[in-house]
Amino acid sequence: MQLSTQSSLLGMDRSQVAELMERFGEPGYRAQQLVEAVYRQRAESFEKISTLPQSLRASLSAGGLSIGLPPIEQRFISQDGTVRYLIGFPDGQSVETVWMPEGDGGEAGDGSEAGDQAERIEGFGGDLDRRPRQGQNPGRSTICISSQVGCAVDCQFCMTALLGVKRNLTAGEIVGQVCAVLKDQQVSPPEDRINLVFMGMGEPFLNYDNFVKAVRLLVEEVGIAERRMTVSTAGIVPRIHDFGGERIRPKLAISLNAPNDALRTQLMPLNRKWNLEMLMAAAKAYPLRTREWITFEYVLLGGVNDAAEHAKEVVELLRGMRCKVNLIALNPGAGIDFATPDTERVAAFQTILRNSGIPAYVRRPRGRDIYAACGQLKRTVEIATAPGP
Ligand code: SAH
Repeated sequence: MQLSTQSSLLGMDRSQVAELMERFGEPGYRAQQLVEAVYRQRAESFEKISTLPQSLRASLSAGGLSIGLPPIEQRFISQDGTVRYLIGFPDGQSVETVWMPEGDGGEAGDGSEAGDQAERIEGFGGDLDRRPRQGQNPGRSTICISSQVGCAVDCQFCMTALLGVKRNLTAGEIVGQVCAVLKDQQVSPPEDRINLVFMGMGEPFLNYDNFVKAVRLLVEEVGIAERRMTVSTAGIVPRIHDFGGERIRPKLAISLNAPNDALRTQLMPLNRKWNLEMLMAAAKAYPLRTREWITFEYVLLGGVNDAAEHAKEVVELLRGMRCKVNLIALNPGAGIDFATPDTERVAAFQTILRNSGIPAYVRRPRGRDIYAACGQLKRTVEIATAPGP
């Protein structure tokens, strides 16, 4: 019996699960039980769902269905507590998902509770006593998730680009990364406050429909508030317009990375198709909600885009916008031909932005030692640090 074109429950919304249960001749409340088991309890097999009768568990499996919680193939644990997971899918492909116990998906200054706390830690509120202590759930753990296997955008400073794009992830595979990590870390939203950033491998706006569906499932079924999520795009302009019209949408971050077309095209070839004028027009037209800012990310490459004159150009570009800038000093990697600027240069760049009234934050590199930081996700398994269990 052909039950559905989709064989895994993860990725199905309530109405799809309800339809499935109807086809199995089951009462309506079974759909609710199944949805809870998949998204809240994060059961890995039908066998583990004790609320369902044994006969139904057996016929679900016999019907070729599975839950589809993706297995964790490897974990790499950083000295700073960051964990980089290699998560596998049935076709042999895998992606990376990163757990950051104290954030730094760039929350500082984003208007959220996590952001406020991040700012205090940076010293802007000065209240260092509120720094989370180890072992407590600090309320600002962040999961960085991937949207594609590899990436097609070809940014010259990013290791994921070296893979090319293999395929899009399904909505279920996007949500599955979150479920796998929550289970492994033994945390459960909404009681445990989890932030999500769509900043892993791939370009979410080139896998738009699956990304949007995943967001809805994460909000409605997994229980993570949309204000705790941020999606970052390299600048797929038509999708920025579409995204502004979504009923449920995370906050928006845009990878700016250069303040003029010549430099941006050199660093991000997609700028040929969607140049800065188009990008800035889309950003200016973007319908911001109360207490919402657009974040612009800016990777600082030593001697390339990190001079005072570049900072001044950024100021001109962003003048009058409700936005903040997240500066990211280059995370180095094999095959990446750029240098990491030193701390003073990063601070000088930040100061120019701030003095012109643009909130600017420096993102702390998380998990550089295990290749888990921004731009380092390339399924690197040959590293000095011993892999976790
Ligand atoms: N494709 C999306 C999502 C990736 S987010 C996007 O481009 O926005 C990853 C962020 O890390 C982006 O802002 C990107 O510009 C930045 N990044 C990429 N490579 C980096 C590197 N080597 N060091 C520091 N940041 C990097």
